[in-house]
Amino acid sequence: MRFSRLRLNGFKSFVDPTDLIIQDGLTGVVGPNGCGKSNLLEALRWVMGENRPTAMRGGGMEDVIFAGASTRPARNFAEVSLVIDNAERLAPAAFNDTDNLEIVRRITRDVGSAYKVGVKDVRARDVQMLFADASTGAHSPALVRQGQIAELINSKPKARRRILEEAAGISGLYQRRHEAELKLKGSEQNLARVDDVIEQLA
Ligand code: ATP
Repeated sequence: MRFSRLRLNGFKSFVDPTDLIIQDGLTGVVGPNGCGKSNLLEALRWVMGENRPTAMRGGGMEDVIFAGASTRPARNFAEVSLVIDNAERLAPAAFNDTDNLEIVRRITRDVGSAYKVGVKDVRARDVQMLFADASTGAHSPALVRQGQIAELINSKPKARRRILEEAAGISGLYQRRHEAELKLKGSEQNLARVDDVIEQLA
């Protein structure tokens, strides 16, 4: 899966619409302190479905919306769009009819987040699964933030294993297993309730 374009509007310090073309190969982001390098990486994670405000260095998810500056008022929404090169048709069947797949996430104050893939309104989970199945996503080790290399060297074997599993493309299966386990638990509870009812009727 190759990212070809990232657009931001009202996301953190990127108050004006900003359009970045992502070229082939490894992409590095350089610039002076505070220019927004980490914000760019966070925008990528966010559009892929990151839902932990702490991962966005915020207290609540609305903290990603431009908060205003001495010369400019705060914005009411933030939007990030990520375009994926889908020429090889690797996207899930529901979205696999175009060469360039656009994923858009928008957050509006007091309303929350909404996602689109192409023209279709989708759930956060659809976007998360789309990236997990392609072995990438908000937690992908392919997105290297500051200090992460040192963290990796010092990390425990279990954390390192997660990175290998991601590379092997099985992280989507873990998510599905988790969901299957939740469904199973729900069914077991329903069965227990049915047993109770049968006992009362007997
Ligand atoms: P460094 O090299 O020091 O780590 P950086 O280039 O990674 O810096 P970021 O951390 O991405 O920079 O950007 C920090 C800037 O983003 C700060 O000026 C901060 O005020 C601004 N910023 C963060 N959130 C918002 C927001 N919601 N609204 C407006 N500005 C924001």
